[in-house]
Amino acid sequence: MGAIAIRNVVKRYGMGARAQQVIHGVNAEIGDGEFVVIVGPSGCGKSTLLRMVAGLEEISGGEIAIAGRVVNDIEPAQRDIAMVFQNYALYPHMSVFENMAYGLKIAKVPVAEIKVRVDKAARILELGALLQRRPRELSGGQRQRVAMGRAIVREPQVFLFDEPLSNLDAKLRAQTRLEIQKLHHELGVTSLFVTHDQVEAMTLAQRMIVMNAGRLEQIGTPEEVYQRPATTFVAGFIGSPPMNLLRGQADGAQFSVAGHGLALPAAAPRAGELILGLRPEHAVLSRSGNAGWPLKVEMIEMLGAERLVYGRVGDSLFTLRLDGTLAPPKSGDTVSLQMAAQHLHWFDPTTTARVGR
Ligand code: ADP
Repeated sequence: MGAIAIRNVVKRYGMGARAQQVIHGVNAEIGDGEFVVIVGPSGCGKSTLLRMVAGLEEISGGEIAIAGRVVNDIEPAQRDIAMVFQNYALYPHMSVFENMAYGLKIAKVPVAEIKVRVDKAARILELGALLQRRPRELSGGQRQRVAMGRAIVREPQVFLFDEPLSNLDAKLRAQTRLEIQKLHHELGVTSLFVTHDQVEAMTLAQRMIVMNAGRLEQIGTPEEVYQRPATTFVAGFIGSPPMNLLRGQADGAQFSVAGHGLALPAAAPRAGELILGLRPEHAVLSRSGNAGWPLKVEMIEMLGAERLVYGRVGDSLFTLRLDGTLAPPKSGDTVSLQMAAQHLHWFDPTTTARVGR
């Protein structure tokens, strides 16, 4: 059915000497009915990849297949996909019903069938009472739902979402996220969703593709990506505040950061130059005096449920997340940190890839 295969896909913009490659051989298999989020910083190639699936950009190399059919040379309208954009551009002079029905009318779907499909989409999106309104009589969130309705009525094999929530305020964004989850639960249509927001990616994705500079860094469930980041880029991009990354020399259970020797709870996977990663919530303040790592506290942020403690281990910046109900240290204090062996992450400084476990 609606599975998507992305095989060695390359994208170049421009011709000849001016050609610039922006996607460098991406591979991903998206299962039928799966909800996959493509996430990465601005300019990493997320939209370009999505637009190649949609057929709005030519594919410079490799191939894309939808439902088992290679679509490289197939027109967007023939790909059986529906796209939801950030700028949802409804027709201002048409009612909600007419906006949702328009594409079907053009495709010459019988009137009775159009009514059934629009009513079904309106029920799912809770737009039933608004069908006769004009877009200007709707809130931003309602307009976004109409835009989704327009995609739903086409009953495509694949939904493609290009940052559809960016124009909404934070509260509405969270609410619309829940609606999209509900929608996917009800319809089970294969979906590819692009966002630069890692929280949005974590909450929506069944699996996520993390991209950086035109390359796929990791593909996995939110848990896999958070718990076992494949590269230092993923470690620093997913999670807020990001994973602490300390560059140093490992030798068994000894790790030296800028000449400052630190005792590890378990041996490093190999000796030599390595990057140690540690999530802010996985280092705890030690009460047993100088048994742990010394952290010189510089600043503390109270966020309610938790406190963020910013400081330095040697010269390296280090962030610690503390339960908000615990008594915090003061800035200027040197506290002692402890961590458990299972929370240490190791990366190769040359390749940036995960090492060991
Ligand atoms: P993202 O969606 O991750 O922000 P894009 O896919 O929009 O990134 O862009 C990826 C890269 O391709 C960027 O460096 C961007 O400047 C470049 N790019 C995008 N569209 C074009 C275009 N039409 N012509 C030339 N370069 C482009």
